[in-house]
Amino acid sequence: MTSYDLVVIGGGINGCGIARDAAGRGLSVALFEMRDLASGTSSASTKLIHGGLRYLEYYKFRLVRESLLEREVLWKIAPHIIWPLRFVLPYQAGLRPMWLIRLGLFLYDHIGGRKLLRATRTLDLTRSSAGKPLRPGMHYGFEYSDCWVDDSRLVVLTALSAAEHGARIATQARVVAAERRHGSWLLTVRHADGSEEAVGARMLVNAAGPWVADVLKTVGPVTSAAGIRLVQGSHIIVPRLFDHSRAYIFQNADNRIVFAIPYQRDFTLIGTTDRDWHDEPGKVAASAEEIAYLCAAASEYFLHAITPADVVATYSGVRPLYDDGASKAQEATRDYVLHLDEAEDAPLLSVFGGKITTYRRLAETALDRLGAYLPAEAQARRGWTGTAPLPGGDFAHDGYQHQVAALRRAYGFLPSALAQRLVRAYGTRASGLLGDSRSLADLGKHYGAGLYEKEVAYLMQHEWAKTTEDIIWRRTKLGLVLSSDEIAQLNQSVSLRKTASI
Ligand code: FAD
Repeated sequence: MTSYDLVVIGGGINGCGIARDAAGRGLSVALFEMRDLASGTSSASTKLIHGGLRYLEYYKFRLVRESLLEREVLWKIAPHIIWPLRFVLPYQAGLRPMWLIRLGLFLYDHIGGRKLLRATRTLDLTRSSAGKPLRPGMHYGFEYSDCWVDDSRLVVLTALSAAEHGARIATQARVVAAERRHGSWLLTVRHADGSEEAVGARMLVNAAGPWVADVLKTVGPVTSAAGIRLVQGSHIIVPRLFDHSRAYIFQNADNRIVFAIPYQRDFTLIGTTDRDWHDEPGKVAASAEEIAYLCAAASEYFLHAITPADVVATYSGVRPLYDDGASKAQEATRDYVLHLDEAEDAPLLSVFGGKITTYRRLAETALDRLGAYLPAEAQARRGWTGTAPLPGGDFAHDGYQHQVAALRRAYGFLPSALAQRLVRAYGTRASGLLGDSRSLADLGKHYGAGLYEKEVAYLMQHEWAKTTEDIIWRRTKLGLVLSSDEIAQLNQSVSLRKTASI
């Protein structure tokens, strides 16, 4: 039986963040994910690295400040998958008053250590290009900064970094039992082929997101754990609604806010909803009611009315929120709470809540909580994740165009759109993926939309992709543009490769 210093249950952003931090501090680490990396909530977010302007209304100053500070830290360690985004907030009479918005944005600009991101400014929507796609009557607005992230790639690159620091990352590996034995943990992991593996651990982290309470049941009796509140959030994707690069944040009459964000070049992403979820988290899907709500909310602002017939895709996720007893789902705290159970000297740390934005700080705090069990050298390395680039992110925060140009110089045959996508996904590692290719033909079979056999092989070899879905929805977002025939062809190749590797 293999034993590790630390075993993490759950390959979402929080589990991968903790695994990376711990492995980089010299601990032996294993992470088990029952499906694919990021297949839970971490691929269903609005994809923002943001302070969360609206959380200021709930006086969540600590959370907002920590999140704001993380924006530039994360942008610098992963400039290929994270970049600044300007948000336009049109002022609507009858909703939040102008002074309140100004005050919120003043705080947003000043409490978060902003150095690189541009400051807030006011907009005359009758003159600005941001006013053009909006309905008449909206005269003023504000424009402020946050960041965009490719959420599922953030998870995979964090896992890859953990692996490069020695962690074992196992997908399609479900932890089905865990018990304390003589001051450590004995786990049973069930693999995709039905085989079971016994694994030992000195420390156990439960980062199962919406399944955190289910895992606690598997683990047997634990001292009073915190409560979890599952809140569903859905998004719709429609053909591009405007031709500039800014996003919109719209206030709704129900006091909620809805974002409309440029997405994957040809689309606009609109979300999200907030409603309590009482079923198995894996069953979550956008309902007709949510789709109608999002269409109506966006149509309040855009000249072009949006109807469910415009929707080309949807996705939905379940927020695993710490239950603070708030009455409305939208008011439940987005802050994280870590619960440590130290029975029999075998610690179990469970993660409740949190945002993608705060995953790195959450990981540091998790290891602080386990500090008594860590060797001094591991404690001394606290903070290393704040400056070490994620795989492929070892270039300047504003160096994306330069990377694209360099890749095209080295691989003159690459069409511009493909070079851009590869740098966005793999950063400086795009050249490793392309290897010694000298023509498009060298990249192997073309499935469509610039997806070649070489990339598929790379994803299956180096990024734990095992199914077509892993490739087209989480490692890339090409599922949006590939036809069903192209997806069927890809499916065949993925199955063949899988069989060949068994
Ligand atoms: P998950 O990503 O759900 O990971 C948990 C993993 O554990 C899953 O992959 C699951 O398969 C695995 N697992 C469960 N049980 C087991 C087991 N027994 N064995 C092995 N594996 C197991 N945050 C932001 O910062 N910015 C945003 O813009 C944003 N927007 C959001 C919008 C929506 C609609 C939602 C729902 C959330 C949003 N969030 C956002 C919050 C953020 O997405 C989540 O807080 C975060 O992804 C949670 O990550 P996690 O790792 O805790 O959970």
